[in-house]
Amino acid sequence: AGTGKFFVGGNWKCNGTKESITKLVSDLNDAKLESDVDVVVAPPFVYIDQVKSSLTDKIEISAQNSWVSKGGAFTGEISVEQLKDIGAKWVILGHSERRHVIGEDDLFIGKKAAYALNEGLGVIACIGELLEDREAGKTFDVCFTQLKAYADAVPSWDNIVIAYEPVWAIGTGKVASPQQAQEVHAALRDWLKKNVSDEVASKTRIIYGGSVNGGNCAELAKQEDIDGFLVGGASLKGPEFATIVNSVT
Ligand code: PEP
Repeated sequence: AGTGKFFVGGNWKCNGTKESITKLVSDLNDAKLESDVDVVVAPPFVYIDQVKSSLTDKIEISAQNSWVSKGGAFTGEISVEQLKDIGAKWVILGHSERRHVIGEDDLFIGKKAAYALNEGLGVIACIGELLEDREAGKTFDVCFTQLKAYADAVPSWDNIVIAYEPVWAIGTGKVASPQQAQEVHAALRDWLKKNVSDEVASKTRIIYGGSVNGGNCAELAKQEDIDGFLVGGASLKGPEFATIVNSVT
């Protein structure tokens, strides 16, 4: 891990019921979590209120998406204002499932990030290459293009965590090796240094996501530029998520 405070987010995606979420919250409340880690969970919108009112306040709440501007006549969307009203502190934006399944593009994601930051939500800004990009030697190009879209849009970097999530590693069980992840994280930090500032490069946390679990987190966490994790599947199991939180080195 680097010098910034370790950050671990649990992305519950479109999973859970009132009952399973009650159990997950109770397991998280019982878990021993390192105090020097920022821990965040992202429940589906409809359960945020339930989680907020039952989960330990040592864990912050993130949304999994937010609308690009002020709420209003946007059927099916959830606004940043509503998320703040219900106690969310963060929003995950640019997740690969929103890019590649729902079809959100860089420009739209950048606008969402800018709006959320301007309204005071923290942004977990996801980026990552497809397998075909990696095989074509385009990993850095793709990640830098996605990062630039955030950089061009956001008012400040104070409240952003970058999540590097290679798409081929998400939900596949194929985790990036610690060296593969470190190589991209270091390149992203270098990009920030050259294109934003030394200060932003050194203080922005860059977390890794893609099949992180209780067994592989420790080796990844040792890498110099890995400042935490964004966890999907393994965040649905309280004890395993706690192991990942506690992998801070
Ligand atoms: C994610 O969707 O952000 C993710 C990293 O998923 P998983 O851990 O299941 O690969």
